[in-house]
Amino acid sequence: MFEKVKPPAEGEKIEYREGKLIVPSNPVIPYFEGDGIGIDVVPAAIRVIDSAVEKIGKEIVWFKVYAGEEAYKIYCNYLPADTLNAIKYYRVALKGPLTTPVGGGYRSLNVTIRQVLDLYANVRPVYHLKGVPSPVKNPEKVNFVIFRESTEDVYAGIEWPRGSKEALKLIEILKRDFGVKIREDSGIGIKPISEFATKRLIRMAIRYAIENERKSVTLVHKGNIMKFTEGAFRDWGYEVAKQEFTDFCITEDELNKDFGGKQPEGKIVVKDRIADNMFQQIITRSEEYDVIALPNLNGDYLSDAAASLVGGLGIAPGSNIGDGIAVFEPIHGSAPKYAGQNKVNPTAEILTGALMLEFLGWKEASEKIKKSIEMTIEQGVVTYDLHRQIGGKLVGTREFANAVIENLNTL
Ligand code: NAP
Repeated sequence: MFEKVKPPAEGEKIEYREGKLIVPSNPVIPYFEGDGIGIDVVPAAIRVIDSAVEKIGKEIVWFKVYAGEEAYKIYCNYLPADTLNAIKYYRVALKGPLTTPVGGGYRSLNVTIRQVLDLYANVRPVYHLKGVPSPVKNPEKVNFVIFRESTEDVYAGIEWPRGSKEALKLIEILKRDFGVKIREDSGIGIKPISEFATKRLIRMAIRYAIENERKSVTLVHKGNIMKFTEGAFRDWGYEVAKQEFTDFCITEDELNKDFGGKQPEGKIVVKDRIADNMFQQIITRSEEYDVIALPNLNGDYLSDAAASLVGGLGIAPGSNIGDGIAVFEPIHGSAPKYAGQNKVNPTAEILTGALMLEFLGWKEASEKIKKSIEMTIEQGVVTYDLHRQIGGKLVGTREFANAVIENLNTL
């Protein structure tokens, strides 16, 4: 099954039956460090995750696989089949960041992983940890879970360079058959947004809201301008809410007309906002937003902006979820200038691990991790990124993880 890696002898496989994950107490979880600061943050996160998991009497059996530069040295391939097969087979994986060349070079490995494994929802919780510096006055009001569609939109990478035969042909067809004029020296990108992909994303977001007793689901779009892609995203979203979750959801219009603006117990309000407005809404009226669903490109922008409200990229965890398969990764990239310096903040990767534990149903271990990170930061033990904002005791990546583990041991 694998060409150049050997799965661990111990540990059991996570299964998926009737729409549910069956998690053993010692699951095999493939992981890779990826590029740049991956070699700093992933080992630090794994040590913290192992300590938390041990506290609840479980064990993760890690299976090292390869992606990025490290994989290229072994396979002459940045994303070998071994790695994709391991994730497919074992169902849940942890990853570090991967570098993507801008302009030319190879395609984004992150986008490829999401597409090949059909990890259609990029799920990013954004919440504030006590003690973390924030540019807003009340960061504790920020508590969103962002569901970003991740297989479609202009982000799917369907594009051709200026002057290529594909671009010129499309320009010609658009002119000849549709009367649309495009400058000949244009690069061309395509923005597909389908009913199928939109509905399954919004279905997952609403289910999450129900299961986690969230108050609202906001559909974010730029449908005033891009009516048949972004606008359709909104319309299909309302359709899912109305047709599949009638007992659980009301729209914002119904809230105002039928309930005098007072949210009835047990109902989730489904509303929509235009994307540009939403960027200011999450800053000025944070408490009004909860679960947020968006198409791919705006989802990418909004989740980085949202992360900045609660401490920035060094803090923000993320995940890529499909049906019965999930890959966990921080929002930040490979920050190559800091690679291997034992300098950057491992919090995002550690919290990504906490998110993974929650997904496995090990909420207690996940909460312990969050609590011990808060304790560490409140004790003033911080990496350079937080140190430049709040001072305190400056430590490296490894030492920060050690301090988190020490705090874990007191819980
Ligand atoms: P980046 O790697 O996220 O780094 C941008 C800046 O964010 C860093 O210079 C640093 O800020 C701060 N930062 C990021 N991670 C941090 C951490 N753990 N601790 C503290 N500060 C942290 O973004 P980028 O420079 O735009 O991208 C670099 C490469 O990563 C690109 O090839 C990009 O395509 C790739 N990327 C990959 C992923 C992924 O694998 N999912 C995601 C995004 C980007 P200061 O310089 O201010 O200290």
